[in-house]
Amino acid sequence: MANLRFTVLEKMMDRAPIAVKAPSSKVSDYYGINVFDKDTMQKFLSKEAYAGVMTAIESGSKIERKVAEQVASSMKAWATGKGATHYTHWFQPLTGTTAEKHDAFFDLADGSKAIENFSGSALVQQEPDASSFPSGGIRNTFEARGYTAWDPSSPAFIMESAAGMTLCIPTIFVSYTGETLDYKAPLLKALHALDLAAVPVCQYFDKNVTRVNATLGIEQEYFLVDMGLFNARPDLVMTGRTLFGHEPAKGQQLEDHYFGTIPERAYAFMVDFEIEAFKLGIPLKTRHNEVAPSQFECAPVFEEINLAVDHNQLLMDVMDKVARRHHLKVLLHEKPYAGINGSGKHNNWSLITNTGKNLLSPGNTPKTNLSFLTFFINIIKAVKDNADLLRASIASAGNDHRLGANEAPPAIMSIFIGSQLTQVLDEIEKKVTKEKMTPEQKTELKLNIGKIPEILRDNTDRNRTSPFAFTGNKFEFRAVGSWANSSSAMVVLNTIVANQLALFVKEVEAISAKDVKKDEAILRVLRSYIVDSKKIRFEGNGYSEEWVKEAAKRGLSNIKTTPPALDVYVTKKSKELFSAMSVFSERELEARHEILLETYTKKIQIESRMMGDLAINHILPASIKYQSILVNNVQGMAAIGMKKEALETQKEMVSEISEHISVIRKEVAGMIEARKKANTLEQAHDKANAYCNKVFPYFEKIRNHVDKLEMIIDDELWPLPKYRELLFLK
Ligand code: ADP
Ligand code: MG
Repeated sequence: MANLRFTVLEKMMDRAPIAVKAPSSKVSDYYGINVFDKDTMQKFLSKEAYAGVMTAIESGSKIERKVAEQVASSMKAWATGKGATHYTHWFQPLTGTTAEKHDAFFDLADGSKAIENFSGSALVQQEPDASSFPSGGIRNTFEARGYTAWDPSSPAFIMESAAGMTLCIPTIFVSYTGETLDYKAPLLKALHALDLAAVPVCQYFDKNVTRVNATLGIEQEYFLVDMGLFNARPDLVMTGRTLFGHEPAKGQQLEDHYFGTIPERAYAFMVDFEIEAFKLGIPLKTRHNEVAPSQFECAPVFEEINLAVDHNQLLMDVMDKVARRHHLKVLLHEKPYAGINGSGKHNNWSLITNTGKNLLSPGNTPKTNLSFLTFFINIIKAVKDNADLLRASIASAGNDHRLGANEAPPAIMSIFIGSQLTQVLDEIEKKVTKEKMTPEQKTELKLNIGKIPEILRDNTDRNRTSPFAFTGNKFEFRAVGSWANSSSAMVVLNTIVANQLALFVKEVEAISAKDVKKDEAILRVLRSYIVDSKKIRFEGNGYSEEWVKEAAKRGLSNIKTTPPALDVYVTKKSKELFSAMSVFSERELEARHEILLETYTKKIQIESRMMGDLAINHILPASIKYQSILVNNVQGMAAIGMKKEALETQKEMVSEISEHISVIRKEVAGMIEARKKANTLEQAHDKANAYCNKVFPYFEKIRNHVDKLEMIIDDELWPLPKYRELLFLK
């Protein structure tokens, strides 16, 4: 193994950036060429078929069979014309990645004649034998049929790879009995709930609004590492993170990477995957270094949320594929390196109407600003009432390393709104009264509300330590993990906001029924929300110890690990909320809870096995080898008559190594025992908790001793690429 480390290091020295050539110097020449988008559809479809698809997209209704046949045949013509040979339903199972099962367009007619075939039914629905996808008990293997169904609101696209091209059709994935088993279906349901709840609220201010959707811009953080070094670290290969590794002499304290130029190999890779992304209609806009060495970020222009989520999933896939061409590996794990910043996926989220108005963008009149404040305050209230659900939505084994590690927003959910908006809310709290307001009171209040855009324009308030921050015309949910499917967080966020808006309308209607004017009723309800939601608002340093204490005093939860965080999905309150919003049935929530717990368990189990293997079969042999060298040395020195004192240093080293070896062996044995015990537990819940509380704590202990050994053992014998090599070699 040590040999492997040096072989890859040597090879790495010669690696040059790979040349990248864009199809054209103007992105607009090739942007979206691999997408069967509206323009392409219009070209390829008859008028009726095009109208049919548009109606289905806008109303979320099913596509008629006749239309489906036409769309399928045009899609096939388009895709095969571009060189695609296969098609696949592309879906997002709860394993976290995307899934594909390819079928050839090619078919045999009359048993012998080769034709290209793609029917309407193959487009609209498929029944993959999906028995190996997690289903949380909903779908047993003997009734393995789940089916995938086309989501026409996300356009089909062609995925290019070295070996060929495949037409990918975005689909939802449901069990045969209709329960959702993926990330897309619940998002579409949550968006429907949001639309239903938000339109009546919009109508208080603007009768032209008939539809509301959410927008999302996802900033994606990642690490790059040379493929050779990656392959020489079995832990990276198997778990996506380094289980061992002493911190390097230099970490990120100089922040020189953040401000530095993008290293050349990384730069070539970025340009290359951006080209591929553009072809797929992913509007990537920014790229830069991140704080940690070898850490980077990219971000697209925001899009409608369903598309934004699909594009992010697709992007992660594209990045991974393109990186191989550059002999690089993209690390999307939330915490590939201990002691170095982890990676997140900031979810910039807002609401948009069919009239094109961003509901979180303050306007120019008191009326539009009251609309802004209504949504703004309802969102704060929704987050305050459902903070634990939001925490659940970002829970994963990987993200546990980040939340609350003084680098990422903590596991405590709070909202930052900036000092100006704080003042506005304070004023509403002070000025709005339970009794009828006088005309003077109203005028004064409205005047102040009208001033919001002015104050926001000068708003330089930024708080990068808040998990949920208002940033001028959108909220930024920063606690989402880098590997996560954003849909998880967005299902919860949109559902809780939908639920809140529905409650709001009820309260406003109840008050205005008592002969109170609408705007006054609205202000009264908003005031009560401001008062009620105060404890979730926090403007200070979210990474600080004081905040942890202060939050506890306020009664905010700080759920540090995944298993208890996930339990929130199956509380009575959550079940009622999700079924009232028609997003998840009780059964679906229970299945999801179980699947996520199982995923957690498996992740920790794999890490634990890998750790044992590395410690016993890689680290200890290297340590023992070095120990033998020292022992030989001591014996040799004694043989030539060296004084006793002269042998002391080596002897000390030998015994130090011995101590570490014996502790490592003991702890690994203990960890294996803990695993065995955990494995006997039947319930997913008990097992996940055992892995979290009984197995996981061994990691730190074992790592500690291994990392100490790294500092003692001869560098030439050390089998694993070291942090300085993984992080700093370019
Ligand atoms: P930052 O200063 O945090 O980098 P940016 O203004 O650059 O913020 O935006 C970050 C992301 O937020 C981008 O993807 C951007 O497109 C997205 N964004 C901007 N406006 C909206 C919006 N109204 N809804 C959703 N996302 C948005
Ligand atoms: Mg940001």
